[in-house]
Amino acid sequence: MTRKSDNSAKHRGRAVTLIPGDGVGPEVMDAALAVIEATGVAIDWDRQAAGMNAFQRFGTPVPDALIESLKRTRIALKGPLETRVAEGWRSINVYLRRTFDLYANVRPTRNFAGVQTPFSNVDLIVVRENTEDLYSGIEHEVAPGVVESVKVITARASRRIAKFAFDYAQDHRRKSITAIHKANIMKLSDGLFLKCARAVSHSYNSIAYQEQIVDAACMRLVTHPESFDMLLLENLYGDIVSDLCAGLVGGLGLVPGANYGDKGAIFEAVHGTAPDITGKGVANPIAMILSSAMMLDYLGHRAAGEKIRAATASVLRAGKVLTRDIGGKATTAEVSAAIVRSMSRA
Ligand code: NAD
Repeated sequence: MTRKSDNSAKHRGRAVTLIPGDGVGPEVMDAALAVIEATGVAIDWDRQAAGMNAFQRFGTPVPDALIESLKRTRIALKGPLETRVAEGWRSINVYLRRTFDLYANVRPTRNFAGVQTPFSNVDLIVVRENTEDLYSGIEHEVAPGVVESVKVITARASRRIAKFAFDYAQDHRRKSITAIHKANIMKLSDGLFLKCARAVSHSYNSIAYQEQIVDAACMRLVTHPESFDMLLLENLYGDIVSDLCAGLVGGLGLVPGANYGDKGAIFEAVHGTAPDITGKGVANPIAMILSSAMMLDYLGHRAAGEKIRAATASVLRAGKVLTRDIGGKATTAEVSAAIVRSMSRA
């Protein structure tokens, strides 16, 4: 059965669904919980299983209790969930994003002093449409040996993600948005996405708007990443390009993410279950820790979110307590303990 709460009753705060997830999920989630606790913000966690671990315990990757919890709290901190390649159930991540209409996926991706990469000036916000495109899950076999996948792009979803991106740019004092597309080939679908982005851009005079074809944009991202500020993408390009961007700043262990809707949000790292390092205690918890800082911002605890970001940057800058994906030897728990220590000194 699911556990109701990790906090004592007298310290009840905002109710949030906690989904540790599969693979390294529970390891990085424990690290994030230690850091959140150190901020002093009280949260009434409702711990729920999802994904492979839920399937093994309850016979379904999406237990009813999970959906009920999300309907009640409307906010979740979530670890990665396993989705088998070319078999098994459809992605639970995609299912949750669509069920709760979490249409805007935001992935802030930037360099940290202390993490060696070919670039030192990457500061990108990737905004990905989360509900349609080839992720609509409409696939069928037309005849043996011939399958079709349907790419769905609507004006409604394209306009609202563009508006979300421009509003975000305004709120966060960003300078420009580049819409990334393949409208030279997919003239109708990507053409519609662009048409909507262009129309929305006209209402935001202070934010520059450009467009770039996805292949050329990928080349430019790995040669001149500093020439981009915010990226606006459909679902599939957003998925691929955001991992590419993570590679620019030191890897998936460093990049947080959030899925926002009009009535709720799910916060999660960009990375997956990392089966190759699961159970070894060496996963980098920073992506999950920074995702929890985004959650605290969303809950109105901006100072606590800032405190986590500052302490994380300070631990990375010092370069002594780093996991092996970024050149160190520290364990997951040692990194979170170092961040907690840095917060208590601040
Ligand atoms: P992955 O992100 O799990 O791993 C890719 C590489 O990055 C691996 O070498 C891994 O060790 C490394 N890595 C990832 N996170 C790390 C961390 N925190 N610290 C250090 N290294 C880290 O991608 P994958 O192997 O393609 O996918 C594995 C599973 O995860 C699949 O079932 C996939 O569907 C799922 N997945 C889930 C989500 C999600 O729940 N949001 C996202 C992506 C992938």
